[in-house]
Amino acid sequence: MNIITSIAEMQQAALLLKRAGKGIAFVPTMGYLHEGHASLLREGRSRGDSLVLSIFVNPIQFGPSEDLERYPRNLEGDCAIARECGVDIVFTPTAAEMYPPGFQTAIRVKELALPLCGASRPGHFDGVATVVTKLFNIVQPDLALFGKKDFQQLAIIRRMVADLSLPVEIVGMPIVREADGLAMSSRNAYLSPDQRQSALSLSKAIRLVRERYAAGERNAARLIEAARNLILAKPAATIDYLELRDAATLATVSDVSDTTLMALAVIIGTTRLIDNTLLGDER
Ligand code: AMP
Repeated sequence: MNIITSIAEMQQAALLLKRAGKGIAFVPTMGYLHEGHASLLREGRSRGDSLVLSIFVNPIQFGPSEDLERYPRNLEGDCAIARECGVDIVFTPTAAEMYPPGFQTAIRVKELALPLCGASRPGHFDGVATVVTKLFNIVQPDLALFGKKDFQQLAIIRRMVADLSLPVEIVGMPIVREADGLAMSSRNAYLSPDQRQSALSLSKAIRLVRERYAAGERNAARLIEAARNLILAKPAATIDYLELRDAATLATVSDVSDTTLMALAVIIGTTRLIDNTLLGDER
């Protein structure tokens, strides 16, 4: 496994792979890898001749009061997981390499970035779209894999790739959860044992809404009310958002269907966690 920190070297490696006719599968991450990331890597391994993982805690997608500085990092542990998953190249640039003095370009996907996490984290998705575009230009993947854990991010990247005619296939992968339902996240490392228990309210709220939907409830307001009550019963939890929206357009809905996305962000202590489900999905 090759570890590359320079953009020029990564571009050169990608060029050589392309010339040799190798298809490149790419998994962009911020590191502190867990089984969710590993599921993307394994799928990438089975679909590409070469597998590239990027590890980059992207400063421009963090707001000024967010957790950029304390975001968990463990390059050694990440490399062990990457090796197990058959990664060929780990691309891990510094922020100075990615954003040298004078950097001033941004990619913005407009409507899809307005609600949900876009409303709570102004500028976040500009930072994501910009870094993903830059990473695509550096790694030159044929295929890139993203988790549905970040459903809005996946929707924005699909839109951006279509709008800008980027020659890369986007693959969306299911949310990987802990045995008790908590969606895996690098940020789960922030949680104390008590907070870890409170954090189950996200997946429990999802389960409740899915059960009521399966039982025939279609009224969005009633479903949201039931989920809110469940979460607010936990003293440590505050709701950032809890919404039912059309999965394709992210427009709000008053009646739900199989194509409705339930998305929520909850703050447990100082940790902001997100989760979602598509009501028509099997789980
Ligand atoms: P991150 O390192 O949090 O930026 O995530 C990198 C990629 O892994 C993104 O495409 C995420 O959606 C995906 N990912 C993170 N957590 C999970 C999870 N629990 N299940 C599936 N994919 C995930």
